[in-house]
Amino acid sequence: MNIKIHRGLEQIGGCITEISTDTSRIFVDFGQNLPGCGKPSTPEEDEKMVKALFSYNSKKHEAVFYTHGHEDHVGLFEYIPDNVPQYMSQGTKELLSIKYGLLSEGASLKVGELQQCDCNSDEYNTAVNLCAQAENKCRLIKRMKTWHRTAPHKKTQSILIGDISVTPFFNCHSIYDSHMFLIEADGKRIWHTGDYREHGYMGKGLIPTLRKYATEIETLITEGTMLKRADKCIHEREISLKMANVMRAFKYVFVLASATDIERLAAIKEAANEAGKTIYVCSKFMKQTMDFFTMQEEELSHGLFSFHPKFYNQRFFRSAKRNGMVMIAGSSQKDRISKLIMGLPQEEILLIYSSWDGYYKDPEQIKANPTYKEFREMFHNVVDIHTSGHADRQTIEKVIKTVNPREVICIHKEEDAEL
Ligand SMILES: [Zn+2]
Repeated sequence: MNIKIHRGLEQIGGCITEISTDTSRIFVDFGQNLPGCGKPSTPEEDEKMVKALFSYNSKKHEAVFYTHGHEDHVGLFEYIPDNVPQYMSQGTKELLSIKYGLLSEGASLKVGELQQCDCNSDEYNTAVNLCAQAENKCRLIKRMKTWHRTAPHKKTQSILIGDISVTPFFNCHSIYDSHMFLIEADGKRIWHTGDYREHGYMGKGLIPTLRKYATEIETLITEGTMLKRADKCIHEREISLKMANVMRAFKYVFVLASATDIERLAAIKEAANEAGKTIYVCSKFMKQTMDFFTMQEEELSHGLFSFHPKFYNQRFFRSAKRNGMVMIAGSSQKDRISKLIMGLPQEEILLIYSSWDGYYKDPEQIKANPTYKEFREMFHNVVDIHTSGHADRQTIEKVIKTVNPREVICIHKEEDAEL
């Protein structure tokens, strides 16, 4: 069995791992490069690179497996040849279908609006192109093959691609339904962690899962995002307690967080309940992911992952103004939030910045996407309450010790980061 890390040894994100035998091969993740990590590329260059990877070393049986739905792991899915099946967890497929469904809806509305007015043809053509791209992604997502998370105490299911067997195991990360893989072929066993952590609500299964299933591993492929970062990884429960404390002190609390991170949304919700505040959202994406999480996980999690936010509109404004609120929003809702806070006294407003601080501190990140910084700067009172979606050094060491492999390959890490 051969392992080739095409991208990820010297960069965070944009990971592509190839594992092959004489007759078969699989790829784990096909991610887009993150801003500031790896060489920036145009969509045309991305497409060319993917086509090149599939044009050599090709095998009779081929497939792509995705660990989770972050762009730096799935971002290039549209360029995978049509005859190569792509696999992802059922939750990942649903999140991507919500995302691209809304993008496509928004893009086609924009095309409709531009048809009504005297816009210039460049603007119109751009809108038509964006619409076609989003529709194409929706079509491709529908064709993704899926696996279901293994229920507790149930037998794991493997997927066979020629003579390679892939078994997905649930993994706690800052996005819903992330997985790691046991890959077996030629009598050898590889463990690919994907992105993971132990300090989330669902992280306590990490070591027991490895103890039970990651046995006799030849090669462990682990992520190393945090190896050079000094951030302290506190548990999501602690995040929630910190949030509850500050939520009590301000009448209007805004929280900048990701719509796909079910655990952070739960931490925020628990904190709002503690502080006696009603939760509002103002984006369809946030509303739809929360509805999906509730439908899937409410019962299993005994209510931890149960979300019933109010959708913010003028009708609710009076009640929110009277009673206070917690508004959860993503950075793309900047304009909507800006209008909303204009009607409120700044001294009674707090922003809880609950995302990676690099988005507003690192010049390269700001250049690629200034909205996090701009969002933050709309507020006078800001507090950072966040913990990473990735394993800290201590957890990585524990994972290596537990798996006890013959060799370790560290990916998804900075160039000079060392284990
Ligand atoms: Zn990730």
